[in-house]
Amino acid sequence: MSLDPPADLGLRRDVLLARHTYLRIGGPAAWFGTPEDLDQLDRIATWARAQALRLRVIGGGSNMLVADEGVPDVVLSLRRVANVIAFDDAEVSAGAAIMLPSLARAAAERQLGGLEFAIGIPGSIGGALQTNAGIGDGRCIGDLVRSVQVLRDGARVTLHADVPGDLEFVYRETSLRGSGDVVLGATLALTPRPREEIDAEMRRLLETRQRTQPTAEPNAGSIFRNPDGDSAGRLIETAGCKDLAIGHVHVSALHANFIVHDGQGTATDYAALMAEVQRRVLAMSGVRLRPEIEWWGPGDLPEAWR
Ligand SMILES: Cc1cc2nc3c(=O)[nH]c(=O)nc-3n(C[C@H](O)[C@H](O)[C@H](O)COP(=O)(O)OP(=O)(O)OC[C@H]3O[C@@H](n4cnc5c(N)ncnc54)[C@H](O)[C@@H]3O)c2cc1C
Repeated sequence: MSLDPPADLGLRRDVLLARHTYLRIGGPAAWFGTPEDLDQLDRIATWARAQALRLRVIGGGSNMLVADEGVPDVVLSLRRVANVIAFDDAEVSAGAAIMLPSLARAAAERQLGGLEFAIGIPGSIGGALQTNAGIGDGRCIGDLVRSVQVLRDGARVTLHADVPGDLEFVYRETSLRGSGDVVLGATLALTPRPREEIDAEMRRLLETRQRTQPTAEPNAGSIFRNPDGDSAGRLIETAGCKDLAIGHVHVSALHANFIVHDGQGTATDYAALMAEVQRRVLAMSGVRLRPEIEWWGPGDLPEAWR
C-alpha cells in the first residue's frame, strides 16, 4: 500500500484516462500529474520509485488501449515541462510533449522539410520516439533524429544517433521502448524545402488519410503491425473481419486495420475484438498478427498481446 504523495508534487488521485486517450476509452490512473518543471518531475519519479509504483508518461494517448479498470500507476503528461520548439538553422529541438503535426507546421513555416510525413500522426515527439512513427512509404522519425534527451534514473542523459549503441530505430520499434527512460525532447535534422512544396505534400497526405481512414470515429490508428511483406489490413479483410463487432466496438468498414467505437466502447470489448480478429486471420492465412498499439492495464496481458 503506497503512501499519499506530498502535496507539492501536484499529483491527483483517480484521474480518468479516457479523457487523455485518442480512443476516449480507459479507466483511472491511480495518480496523475502534469509536472511544472524538471525538478518536480525528478521528485515525482523519486517518490514513485520509493513507493514501488510504475511511472508512465502519456503523450497524445494515440497508440494505446487503457483497461476499463485503469492502471495502479503514476501517469504523467509532460505538456507543461517539455513543450518548447527551438530552431537552429536546419535543426530543430522539440520537447517531448510537442505534437508531430504542430512541429511539421512550424518547420514548414521556416521552409524546412522532412516532417511532412508526420502531418497526420496525432502523437507527441515522446510517443513517436517509442515506435519510430512513420508512414507506409518508409519515412519515419528515426531517419531525422540527431539526439534524444532522456531522464534515466534521476539523471539527464543525451543519446546520440551517431554513437553506436545509443539509439536504434527499426520498423515501429526503437531502443527507447520499454527502456524506462522518460523522453524529454529530441533534436531532428531537417532539409530546406520551398514552403509551397511542403504544404502541397502535407495537403495530399491529409486528403489520403481523410479518404482511407475512419477519421470521424474514435480510433487508435493501425491496430496491428504489418507482417513482413504483407499488410495487416489486407489480411484482416481477406479473413472476412470487416464490420465484425463486439458490443459497441467494430472493425472499420473503411480500413480493416482500424477498430472504432461509437463512443460507448469498452477496453474489454476492444481487446476481445482484437483477439477475435487475430484468431480469424491465423485460421485463414497462418499469420499471427502482433498489436501495434500498447496495452495499459493491471495484471496479465490480454490475449491479443500474449
Ligand atoms: C488516427 C491515427 C493515425 C495514426 N497514424 C499513424 C501513422 O501513420 N504512423 C504511425 O507510426 N503511427 C500512427 N498512429 C499511432 C500513434 O499516433 C503514434 O504511434 C504516435 O507516435 C504515438 O504518440 P503518442 O504521443 O500518442 O503516444 P502515447 O499513445 O501517449 O504513448 C505511447 C507510448 O509512448 C510512451 N511515451 C509517450 N511519451 C513518452 C515520453 N515523453 N517518454 C517516454 N515514453 C513516452 C507511452 O508511455 C506509451 O508507452 C496513429 C494513431 C491514430 C489515432
